[in-house]
Amino acid sequence: MAYKTNMVELGCCLECGKKLYGRTDKKFCGKTCKNNYHNKEIRQRNRIRSEIISRLLCNHDILCNMLKLGCDSAQIEELAGMGFDHRLVTGYRKGLYQKDEYACFDLRYYRTPTRIYRLHRVESAGWRLQSEDCKNQ
Ligand SMILES: [Zn+2]
Repeated sequence: MAYKTNMVELGCCLECGKKLYGRTDKKFCGKTCKNNYHNKEIRQRNRIRSEIISRLLCNHDILCNMLKLGCDSAQIEELAGMGFDHRLVTGYRKGLYQKDEYACFDLRYYRTPTRIYRLHRVESAGWRLQSEDCKNQ
């Protein structure tokens, strides 16, 4: 809400910067600027989501290829060279022996700071989806 404070102090349209007149809580000079501003925000949010999903799918492809090759562990640095981004996961939990278990959709693995290991695919049983949690409440 910092922009609101700035808006009152500056008295300018958030979209075009034109000086505002009228109500003190006014943020835009008109409907066109208001719509343009909000449409840009929506496009930006959708672009960020798409980028993250693309990178997760790239991670999934890399991990799938490992499994196809019969490989269940690798150095994170080596995977990063192929485009793997270890910061992006679709799930996390304390797994066997309280080790950190990560998920990339249907694939799971354990991870140390330098490598992943015990990569395996799981069927739909296991971690419940958020929507399943909601149904049970
Ligand atoms: Zn404007």
